Amino acid sequence: MTDFEKIRNDFPILSEHIYGKPLVYLDNGATTQKPAAVINAIKEYYESYNSNVHRGVHFLSQKATDAEEAARSGVQRFINAAHSSEIIFTKGTTDAINLLAYSFCKKHMQPGDELIITEMEHHSNIVPWQIACEDRGGSLKVIPLKDDGTLDLAVLEKLISPRTRLIAFTWVSNTLGTVNPVADIISLAHSHNIPVMIDAAQAIQHMAIDVQASDIDFLVFSGHKIYAPTGIGVLYGKHALLSELPPYQGGGSMIKSVSFNETTYADLPFRFEAGTPNIAGIIGLGAAIKYVSEIGINNIAAHEAELLDYAESELKQIPGIRIVGTAPHKAATISFLVGDIHPYDIGELLDKQGVAVRTGHHCCQPIMDRYAIPGTVRASFSFYNNKADVDTFIAALKKAISMLV
Ligand code: PLP
Repeated sequence: MTDFEKIRNDFPILSEHIYGKPLVYLDNGATTQKPAAVINAIKEYYESYNSNVHRGVHFLSQKATDAEEAARSGVQRFINAAHSSEIIFTKGTTDAINLLAYSFCKKHMQPGDELIITEMEHHSNIVPWQIACEDRGGSLKVIPLKDDGTLDLAVLEKLISPRTRLIAFTWVSNTLGTVNPVADIISLAHSHNIPVMIDAAQAIQHMAIDVQASDIDFLVFSGHKIYAPTGIGVLYGKHALLSELPPYQGGGSMIKSVSFNETTYADLPFRFEAGTPNIAGIIGLGAAIKYVSEIGINNIAAHEAELLDYAESELKQIPGIRIVGTAPHKAATISFLVGDIHPYDIGELLDKQGVAVRTGHHCCQPIMDRYAIPGTVRASFSFYNNKADVDTFIAALKKAISMLV
């Protein structure tokens, strides 16, 4: 059995004190903390083999290149991609979606064509598509949310048309915690020959992902949500689909040959990786994936499901609480409001007690409009959280409420 209490010691930051109180970190949806294995991998790179990749014959460059490609293979295995060349390193989810929106729409979108997204998307899975639609003369259609925070999939059937080029949606809502029925959406999309892009920014750290078994066309995620550093992320795409797309950015590393008459582009994955990559970030991501794999993503999912149940049942006992997002299948993220107290006030008072939560619209303004609320307080859990964290959070919340009403 996994000893999750012992695992807490892997995260140096968890022994920090905030305003003299032990840190209870419940803002994992925004970013996760880093285990020593990741911190040390980055330190080791800078201390002993810092060098550029794919450019030098010398020892250090070879070693850095090997480490980068080992990380790529690690990601490939983690999501069960067929080829490591299907793993494109990006700056993060946002960067990956911008890449895809630009390249996919340049290749496939004609004036009058349509894309489908959902009402629960993070701004980074809305705005790049809006920009692409503006450039290409296309339009966006939106699958609406139901009151419980699930998608109204009956509407999806009606939104699909012969002009639909792509369906892009999140696996897990960063605000509502809803886990979407990915298999159903993919099979509907594929029955109309429409590819899908899945935003896995809030899924990759919580559940097993098998891109081949799920027949996923494109998938994006950020390293920093899965215990790796900021500034690194992944775009996965099926080889056949990625290889027909034009490059996003030009520069070094993404070419086969350059002359003033003609430039030819490198094969996957390098065609989409112009310039010196975030080598330390890639190495950190490789270490994070290895670390998570050793704990086991299914063990993580089971522990987090227990925490979610416990936290929700404790929260529901607080008078005036309203949980925003009550889907039957949720990841360990809870958004809530208490009476008419502004979320920001609760967040401030929790912070003073050492409890870090997120407040506001969580980069999902359309969700706030849908439920006519100014924002929420969001507690999002990781496997290093425990029931004692939940107890501290609940006690701090009760104290905050008593000061505000
Ligand atoms: N999509 C979802 C569902 C997210 O939760 C986030 C970040 O919170 C993003 C996209 C954007 O990720 P990043 O800021 O790492 O690019």
